[in-house]
Amino acid sequence: MRLILLGPPGAGKGTQSQRLMQRFNIPQLSTGDMLRAAVKAQTPVGIEAQKIMSQGGLVSDDIVIGLISDRIEQADAAHGFILDGFPRTVAQAKALDVILAQKHKELDAVIELRVDEAALLARMEERVRQTIAAGQAVRSDDNPESFRLRLEAYREMTAPVAAFYAELGSLHVVDGMAPIDDVSAQIDAFLKAKAST
Ligand code: ADP
Repeated sequence: MRLILLGPPGAGKGTQSQRLMQRFNIPQLSTGDMLRAAVKAQTPVGIEAQKIMSQGGLVSDDIVIGLISDRIEQADAAHGFILDGFPRTVAQAKALDVILAQKHKELDAVIELRVDEAALLARMEERVRQTIAAGQAVRSDDNPESFRLRLEAYREMTAPVAAFYAELGSLHVVDGMAPIDDVSAQIDAFLKAKAST
């Protein structure tokens, strides 16, 4: 099962990825997590990405395409994966097509979690509150100013990715405003229907 989860920051991609990982026993490939690990380790990629990430901008296509291309090669991704946070630009989506074609692999589904933008800032603030309550470090881009820029980047650069897959007939939209279990049920129902066609 090779899936893409699309949706703005705070749409619930991480939460749904966790569930799908367990259900299908496939890894979640999150470019955000990979980049945060690179920043923490202060690798050359991390050093380059650090500032742009904390400001809420997009890291260069070349960097994230390189990360994903290497990650897909690893053994745990041989039978499938969930892409979370990638592709974020149409150029990344086209690069993914080429990478998969070279490996003679295909995407099974592209699922967009559609949410009401007004709710997203409140979700981010709640995530910050819970993170602090758990004694964990808050992400440097989880503040209202960076969040506004992340939403802008989504509107400008990533919404066209959904349009790109819609045109190919592979986009499925679910209501990301529903309770978590309902969102999961919508995704399961779609994947089940797809498997039986
Ligand atoms: P979010 O919670 O906003 O969906 P992520 O954890 O997916 O955030 O990503 C955090 C940051 O990492 C983004 O704001 C961006 O700077 C960078 N990033 C992650 N994935 C990509 C990508 N595919 N292309 C460019 N930048 C990316």
